[in-house]
Amino acid sequence: MGLGEASLIGITILGSTGSIGVNTLDVISQHKDKYKVVALTANTGVERMIEQCTQWQPEYAVMADTDSAELLRAKLKAVAADVEVLSGDEGLRFVAETEQTDYVMAAIVGAAGLLPTLAAAKAGKRVLLANKEALVLSGQIFMDAIRDSGAELLPIDSEHNAIFQCMPVNFGDGLAPTGVQRILLTASGGPFRSKSLTELHQVTPDQACAHPNWVMGRKISVDSASMMNKGLELIEACWLFNTTPEHIQVVLHPQSIIHSLVEYSDGSVLAQLGNPDMRTPIAHGLAWPERIKSGVASLDLFDIARLDFEEPDLERFPCLRLACEAMQKGGTATAILNAANEVAVAEFLARRIRFTDIAKIVELALTNVEIEEATSLQTVLAADKRARDYSNTAIQELAA
Ligand code: NAD
Ligand code: MG
Repeated sequence: MGLGEASLIGITILGSTGSIGVNTLDVISQHKDKYKVVALTANTGVERMIEQCTQWQPEYAVMADTDSAELLRAKLKAVAADVEVLSGDEGLRFVAETEQTDYVMAAIVGAAGLLPTLAAAKAGKRVLLANKEALVLSGQIFMDAIRDSGAELLPIDSEHNAIFQCMPVNFGDGLAPTGVQRILLTASGGPFRSKSLTELHQVTPDQACAHPNWVMGRKISVDSASMMNKGLELIEACWLFNTTPEHIQVVLHPQSIIHSLVEYSDGSVLAQLGNPDMRTPIAHGLAWPERIKSGVASLDLFDIARLDFEEPDLERFPCLRLACEAMQKGGTATAILNAANEVAVAEFLARRIRFTDIAKIVELALTNVEIEEATSLQTVLAADKRARDYSNTAIQELAA
């Protein structure tokens, strides 16, 4: 260890090969005097991981399964022999908790990210939360873990990062006591914002993944197209900012320049603006309460010229309504919503169901899978499993 290296902030990136992971490494590469990469993790993409390990020489690399880990270990001998390769849930938990790490970027997609993200929360790390599904599955359990360990929770989802920046410091007390009247959660509307219901029956995975403003992983891209992403974000905002769906207004804003707004009781409305580039919220989460450069271009308002706003259409985008209803039902309803959505999105991406079937499957799961109180992690994980099984069966019946 060189002189001064001990004072660098150690970072674990869960999901380093994904869109958020790569953007995080881009920001860190601009601040090697402040941060060092302790651990990188990926699902099965060994090639990408070899490149990242060669460049970053982390202490640890974690792959989701033992075969990928074995392959990575063999290949790293020549280029990064000091990297310790781990695998599975245990490996992920280890790099989320290890003393060598100060901050954990939670950027695994879907419910797969829950356990290591929760481990980081329990270990009292600064949690940079991109993995919104963790909060949707187990909001209460996750927020309790953060509070009990004294961990810091920095939202990375651009809207939640924007809200965080506009909120008063004591926002954990809830909206009313801190003079906040409501949250305005902006949504681009995705690639299908102006499509009719009939057109939505015919859209393909590639069309769904061609987002007008953001380049993201395929799952969140489909969620953006169905507006389930905004539904998941509404739930995420309720947990992060200690509020309920009635105090959150979703606002369609196709340019994605305003990333969300907070309205105060005196009529003041604070907004956070910027180019749609995830390096801004990532840099904010890394440096908070300070500011660092992110590499994002300066906002050119003359070039943008106008900002538009519309009300969301819940008939064409029922996923937003379903998410809102799930949050109002409470308990394991949001875990069921999330699981059914993950199954349906994967089936849509594999071209086995239509885009409009996603909402149908989610609605069926919410009606037919028993909702319980989300008292423990086991209850939540069992609900997630039941909803996945139910959704797979429902999809087979749909196809028959
Ligand atoms: P992505 O698909 O590009 O990357 C996902 C990462 O998770 C990859 O490194 C992948 O290897 C890893 N991964 C996937 N399945 C795994 C599994 N079963 N076990 C272990 N690792 C696994 O996704 P993304 O777009 O980077 O999104 C990541 C998370 O951040 C999602 O929860 C998403 O909702 C959230 N988010 C993303 C953006 C964005 O701009 N991309 C914005 C806001 C929030
Ligand atoms: Mg978002």
